[in-house]
Amino acid sequence: MQLPMSSSRYVYQYLPLLCLLDLAFSIPAGTGTLTPPPSAYATHTIPVSGALTATASLAGPLPPGASAEPTQNTINAHPDLVPGQASNSSADASQSFDFLNVTDPQPIRGDMGSNDPGPHDSAYDRQNPDTLARPTTDEGDVQQAKWPMGLSSTRMTGAGWARQQNVDVLPAAKQMAGVDMRLGPDAYRELHWHSANEWAYVLNGSARISAIDAQGRNFNDDVSEGDLWYFPSGLPHSIQALENGVEFLLVFDDGAFSEDDTFLITEWFSHTPREVLAKNFGVPIKAFDEVPKEQLYIFNGTPPAVNVSADAVQSPEGTIPEPFSFHLSRQEPMVVPGGSVKVVDSGTFKASTSIAAAVVTIKPGAMREMHWHPNSDEWNFFISGRARITVFDAPQSARTFDYAAGDVGYILVDQGHYIENIGDEDVVLLEVLKAPQFEDVSLGQWMALTPPQVVKDTLHLDNDVLSGLSREKQYVVAAQP
Ligand code: MN
Ligand code: MN
Repeated sequence: MQLPMSSSRYVYQYLPLLCLLDLAFSIPAGTGTLTPPPSAYATHTIPVSGALTATASLAGPLPPGASAEPTQNTINAHPDLVPGQASNSSADASQSFDFLNVTDPQPIRGDMGSNDPGPHDSAYDRQNPDTLARPTTDEGDVQQAKWPMGLSSTRMTGAGWARQQNVDVLPAAKQMAGVDMRLGPDAYRELHWHSANEWAYVLNGSARISAIDAQGRNFNDDVSEGDLWYFPSGLPHSIQALENGVEFLLVFDDGAFSEDDTFLITEWFSHTPREVLAKNFGVPIKAFDEVPKEQLYIFNGTPPAVNVSADAVQSPEGTIPEPFSFHLSRQEPMVVPGGSVKVVDSGTFKASTSIAAAVVTIKPGAMREMHWHPNSDEWNFFISGRARITVFDAPQSARTFDYAAGDVGYILVDQGHYIENIGDEDVVLLEVLKAPQFEDVSLGQWMALTPPQVVKDTLHLDNDVLSGLSREKQYVVAAQP
């Protein structure tokens, strides 16, 4: 059918609409036309207005009389400013602003900044007040130090899920990577091994774990919320959730680690000639008829025996000399002025030769004191609460990041930092180091143990400030009254 140019354009532009009309007007069969009756066609024609591109006359200065729209100064009248934000308030303290209940937080701090009339996503701004309206002390370049696990793609199977943070999403995190994994009731993480050391913290529920070492010594244990395990690189292991399921956090001492690249027992079976399998195990080829053709990864399992020792196999080589689990949940925390701390490293958890950690609780308003780690980067994970960290980097850079439950933080070796609770519930976080010992240098303790005149001449502090410095590490300092 040949249509004039103008009408054929309409036919193609409104083809979907015409198809609908086709149904509505029920064209008799055999008419051989796509178009409805002329009357209906006329009523439903939508004229095209405007042009895809304007004319070249818009380039350069506008003709006389075509002035720009006047702008109004509404900055300090913005309805969504919180106390301390307006230019008549003192911004010196550089406190964190609470934007949680603000509809449209603004990048304003005292005389700094302006309102944001342009496109933005206020949900991010509410969660990151120190990014939007940063402290006046922030300056220069500091590596990205926050990754919300909620932005990681969640790999789901019929029995659980896993999501990870590694150097692909947080490029500065070269020494460590993390995985958040959930196994439903009785579900397995498939038998596997990998080329990074694995440290784990149980977030909730409980699991049964097993492994062997290169000498054929084996290991079995049950772990629950707050407990740890550590599987050295290359050693094969399994994890099975107990009756209520389990969620745990894995930390690997290699920032490039990917949970999707582990050595899985099913994959090795399905990529080995069955003749070889038969020879290896001394059984007929048909014994492997039911072996899965694809990996199982996370899958439903048979409920294990109630008692872990009933499941355990006796090895002729005995058991592993240093257990791969540590019942940190039963370790009494050290209570400090602003919260509490549990430190665990190879001093007590002997198998954990490459990972050291602290579980830190920070009360509302309290703060993990200013410090740095001389022996490792810090990978941290927020279990509860809301906090901010300012990372100080040499020579004069600082950047403040905000964290909530489920966020990963990453601080490079030697970078100064604090962790301040800016919410109204306890902050609980893991500080994980790639090191055999947990080491931190306290700024306050350093100053207290240095000849006072040296500190006084440098920082111009009064004698009563110097004499009040604690010669003992504080870990977490209390909120100010
Ligand atoms: Mn593993
Ligand atoms: Mn730290």
